[in-house]
Amino acid sequence: MKKEYDKVWEKCLEIIKDNVNAQSFKTWFEPIKPIRLQTNVLTIQVPSQFFYEWLEEHYVALLKKVIRKELGADGRLEYSIVMENIYGVKPYTVRIPATNKKEVKNPAMNMPLDMREGGIRNPFIIPGLKRVTVESNLNPDYSFEHFVEGDCNRLARSAAFAVANKPGETSFNPLLIYGGVGLGKTHLAHAIGIEIKKKNPAKTVLYVPSERFTNQFIDAIQNNNTNDFVNFYQMIDVLIIDDVHFFSGKEKTQDVFFHVFNHLQQNKKQIVMTSDRAPVDLQGIEQRLLSRFKWGLAADLQPPDLETRIAILEKKAYADGIDLPRDVMEYIGYSITSNIRELEGALISLLAQASLNKKTLNIDLARQMIDKFVRNTAKEVSIDYIQKVVCDYFNMPIDLLKSKTRKREVVQARQIAMYFAKQLTKSSLATIGMHCGGKDHATVLHACRTVNNLMDTDKKFRHYIQELDKKINLS
Ligand code: ADP
Ligand code: MG
Repeated sequence: MKKEYDKVWEKCLEIIKDNVNAQSFKTWFEPIKPIRLQTNVLTIQVPSQFFYEWLEEHYVALLKKVIRKELGADGRLEYSIVMENIYGVKPYTVRIPATNKKEVKNPAMNMPLDMREGGIRNPFIIPGLKRVTVESNLNPDYSFEHFVEGDCNRLARSAAFAVANKPGETSFNPLLIYGGVGLGKTHLAHAIGIEIKKKNPAKTVLYVPSERFTNQFIDAIQNNNTNDFVNFYQMIDVLIIDDVHFFSGKEKTQDVFFHVFNHLQQNKKQIVMTSDRAPVDLQGIEQRLLSRFKWGLAADLQPPDLETRIAILEKKAYADGIDLPRDVMEYIGYSITSNIRELEGALISLLAQASLNKKTLNIDLARQMIDKFVRNTAKEVSIDYIQKVVCDYFNMPIDLLKSKTRKREVVQARQIAMYFAKQLTKSSLATIGMHCGGKDHATVLHACRTVNNLMDTDKKFRHYIQELDKKINLS
């Protein structure tokens, strides 16, 4: 007995036959096989990707018309493409809904990797496009141009740049960028993708957070199409996978990632990964996967140094067209040392405060705001900041204080800075010494004693300390 979809397709063909010439009909419509009819959706199987594109390009209007006629206004067409057997795996099908331009507005922009309604089995296919494109998911703000280089990120940045210029061709494959939160891992990962796309738009670049990869894989298992899932990932040219520490303890996901990984690497495709810790510290990741991670390069991102922090603030302010007073910029740079996300957060809240309350953006406002912002560490100023205040007070360049010079007034300023650092920060004597001209812990201890003694005996000196104390603790 004839299946319902056969009957429907036969009727469609009758109309089509009347509307195209014989040769075209033979070439483009006879090879089509109807395979399913579910509610209003007719699925037809086509022999190749190219075939599908040709139909979409030349016959979409006609197809739409006949489908509407046969299945009603809600009728839709879905393609199932028999993929060429290029991956050494069994042929499989990708299902693509027919173009329906009314429904899908600007699909390239709006369609995330997630599944959309309409029976798309493969989560990555974007309906309504002439060709099957992979939305790269790249954030244009996270480019190399917007990434400030500093000692803290130099290795990772140059490796990333090298990879972006020759994806798959450097020995940095995979490239693993690791570091704590807010240090720029995601930014750098996007920058690679953006740069590659810029130089080579034809390359299939995909940025995907590990969490999403995992969820897609779970969906694929549930929908019985893990083959589609694997094959999709294996055709990517540049796979950027963010926060792989998320794979910890997820054995099945690691398995499938392992296969994808091997395939891509064998085919000289570029893999970029980020993680919140070094490969050796990644617990719950299988050894065989870990050893793969070590094949390429692992480059770390360190917390930004003062110069980088200020340079980042300058760049952000400039990009946003804000006139940020120098002392405010320095104050933020000195105070927020943890990571770049916090640094940006502080800047944004400061700008918001200033504009909402119509206050002038000056150092006093910065002090009030930043203090609130760094709630937990509010009472802990940084050594850098103490040094700055002390140097400003004595009108002395900070380099001099950090130098080895034994000039009396410099020694004294240095001792005072050490004294405040000991009092106001949680830093060890050794760390304080290191920041103040590379001295050892005994020197710092001696400095603290000297300052205490002088405060007891020297009135003028006591006055200095009291004033400095006010300045440092003003915030
Ligand atoms: P992570 O992924 O390591 O947690 P992100 O990449 O999300 O950190 O970075 C946090 C924020 O800091 C982002 O807005 C990013 O643009 C910014 N950022 C990080 N590093 C830099 C840098 N070197 N220059 C400029 N902005 C940076
Ligand atoms: Mg991140």
